[in-house]
Amino acid sequence: MSPVSSVPTKIARRGLMLVLSSPSGAGKSTIASNLLRDDHSLEISVSVTTRAKRPSEIAGKHYHFISIPQFERMRDNGELLEWAEVHGNYYGTPREPVEKAMAEGRDMLFDIDWQGALQLQEKMKADIVSIFVLPPSMTELQSRLHRRAEDTEEVIRTRLANSRAEIEHWREYDYVIVNDDLDEAFGHVNCIVNAERVRRDRRHGLFDFVRELLEEEPVLPR
Ligand code: 5GP
Repeated sequence: MSPVSSVPTKIARRGLMLVLSSPSGAGKSTIASNLLRDDHSLEISVSVTTRAKRPSEIAGKHYHFISIPQFERMRDNGELLEWAEVHGNYYGTPREPVEKAMAEGRDMLFDIDWQGALQLQEKMKADIVSIFVLPPSMTELQSRLHRRAEDTEEVIRTRLANSRAEIEHWREYDYVIVNDDLDEAFGHVNCIVNAERVRRDRRHGLFDFVRELLEEEPVLPR
């Protein structure tokens, strides 16, 4: 890469809060883990939840698994930036890591539902970029939930029933992606993140950069 094209990456900017929502099984978690795999400047916000851990999940990485009294204590002490009851369990975003990341200009990814997205949009509108992931069809959504084979039939039924209500909120997001083909959907998300990172209103460092640029005396060829 030429030195000229690397210059904009050094320009200070605010951290980005990338919110990904979708009904269960639409592929949001796969998109999120691909993003984290490829983009090391993006950090996931690890939520707290009262839901039971799935066999494939790692405590502290996928979620902080806590009891209902612990959750209520965190919520009542203002330690959660947002919280919601989803499919009969509590979920919430711990405030401290997010505030730290934002203050340091780091980007964070949030895998949260529409209720959480709405709360973050109300509190931190300027920093939010929200993406809603839709399944290509309800039949495909159902078969993805079965293929995952980590939930009981009853849990799958609840999640399917709730998915329609979740989908109703698609209009509240900045971007909407249909996850028919995972590579294509992932490509769209990457484009969104890259474009949002160079938005003028996010990059306060541009003021100094442009001032210095204009003060520079070009060396003209003789
Ligand atoms: P799951 O149980 O499948 O991991 O997550 C169920 C739903 O809860 C998903 O839609 C997920 O995005 C959402 N969720 C996970 N963490 C949070 C959170 O901290 N806050 C909110 N509002 N929703 C969350």
